[in-house]
Amino acid sequence: MITGKNYIGSTLSASNSKTYTTFNPQLNTANNEQFYEATSDEINEAVLLASVAFETYKNIAGSKKAVFLNAIADEILALDDLLITTYCKETGLPEGRAKGECGRTIGQLRSFANLVAEGSWVEATIDTALPNREPVPKPDLRKMMVPLGPVVVFGASNFPLAYSTAGGDTAAALAAGCPVIVKSHPMHAGTGELVASAIIKAAEKTGMPNGVFSNLNSSGIDVGVQLVQHPKVKAVGFTGSIKGGRALFDLAAKRDEPIPVFAEMGSVNPVVILPRALEVDTDTWAKTYAGSITLGAGQFCTNPGLILGIKSDMLTGFIQGLSQEIVKIDPTCMLHPNIYESYKKNKQTAFDQSGTEVMADYSPAVNDNYAKQAVLTVEGDTFLKNTKLHQEVFGPYSLVVQCENKKELETIISKLEGQLTGTILTDTIEAKDYTEVISALSNRVGRIIFNGVPTGVEVCPSMQHGGPYPASTDSRFTAVGIHSIKRWIRPFAYQDWPNELLPQELQNENPLQISRLVDGNQTNKSI
Ligand code: NAP
Repeated sequence: MITGKNYIGSTLSASNSKTYTTFNPQLNTANNEQFYEATSDEINEAVLLASVAFETYKNIAGSKKAVFLNAIADEILALDDLLITTYCKETGLPEGRAKGECGRTIGQLRSFANLVAEGSWVEATIDTALPNREPVPKPDLRKMMVPLGPVVVFGASNFPLAYSTAGGDTAAALAAGCPVIVKSHPMHAGTGELVASAIIKAAEKTGMPNGVFSNLNSSGIDVGVQLVQHPKVKAVGFTGSIKGGRALFDLAAKRDEPIPVFAEMGSVNPVVILPRALEVDTDTWAKTYAGSITLGAGQFCTNPGLILGIKSDMLTGFIQGLSQEIVKIDPTCMLHPNIYESYKKNKQTAFDQSGTEVMADYSPAVNDNYAKQAVLTVEGDTFLKNTKLHQEVFGPYSLVVQCENKKELETIISKLEGQLTGTILTDTIEAKDYTEVISALSNRVGRIIFNGVPTGVEVCPSMQHGGPYPASTDSRFTAVGIHSIKRWIRPFAYQDWPNELLPQELQNENPLQISRLVDGNQTNKSI
């Protein structure tokens, strides 16, 4: 059942008279449940509880954290239809998408459970002492990764499950040993509360300390701002807009004790379409990209919002084909009237820029909150001069830039902001003639795709989801896959520490049988 209350650890709390509702964009009406905005005292209570819980939780064995993470996955599955119907009525997204995202969320939790159960992720590194070394003895040094402390997680509107309450950031932080306080997304507060209830149940059933997880409601920026400024919060995970992520990053940097903000933000995901791809199959690429641009009403961080090619008849044919294909696709509902209004406004801003030509703009009447897809084109030099055209238009929109030549293509790519992904459509022979272009693109992105589409983020250890700023605030990390745990840990070394006082990961006997770097050799043997 949805109560509309905050979870301060396992306690449901509703001290505020200020409430808000979520919205059903398909019906264009507010949903019934009232959500109680967290008060300043509730925020403080949740953070203090998390910092007390940290002292216990940071020492809990990986095998027990694995049981906890798997229990969260089980409790989410037990929510069954209630979760799916709540997700759909708060987002306008179809049931299939809700189920798919739920499966991805469960998969993420279980992959972190496996990681911490196995244990080698702590990167144990041991250099044994050389007491007789000349001119000075070498001490015994042993290092491993330890959790940072309480983490605040902000989820995005477009992934109510996989990038929200029990999404990748939360799963990774809990796996690392960090308690989590979620700043619930106001657009899917009911979905968030249901998932929070599953996490709390799992924590209780598996004996985790109270405060290992809290969920705070808010319909504006105040709760998030107070959380990021709280001295006991040690790191922030954010998925959302560049504006929001940057504001929180700046706030965290201004604290007396600055803390890391791992913000995963918007991106236009440039696609470079080279002549050979057009020679081989213009129609297929036009159809494929019409599908990718409109997937999920274009509400993906990996949406292909920018297509770059070199002027030719074939490129003109591709633009025409894409424009014809895209208007054949039925528009779909956006997540919320605010997102729909932003889309309309940003699309219009692009239309209004001098030198842009509208190639497709879906014209038939549609239901409220349904996004009309659009394709624009512009010349390379106009694009270069107008950085407004470089910005994400969150929705089913793409801009095709027609470059004069290879040099201009390379220059444009090198002037782009950092991106989550870049895509090259070509063949292996032509690719060798475009090494500078490919190299320029590699400098601007976190993941490069060959002959495909950027939409669709496989969850696996080799996935890189993040990129140079502003795709993310720290391009050294990923937000997807088990390596995302690295955002919530720090290296910690013991010098000449007695064996029996060391954590198991660093003891001579290697009781957990993990893989360790011992005196320069990777091994799972004891010392
Ligand atoms: P958003 O408006 O930035 O909101 C995200 C969360 O941050 C919300 O809870 C919001 O709270 C909070 N927030 C925003 N600005 C804030 C501020 N100045 N201070 C404190 N809190 C603030 O983003 P969204 O509309 O939910 O999500 C869409 C965006 O996310 C798109 O740009 C998309 O590309 C991006 N995205 C990126 C990824 C990725 O992995 N890189 C994945 C999914 C989505 P309130 O709503 O209460 O203000």
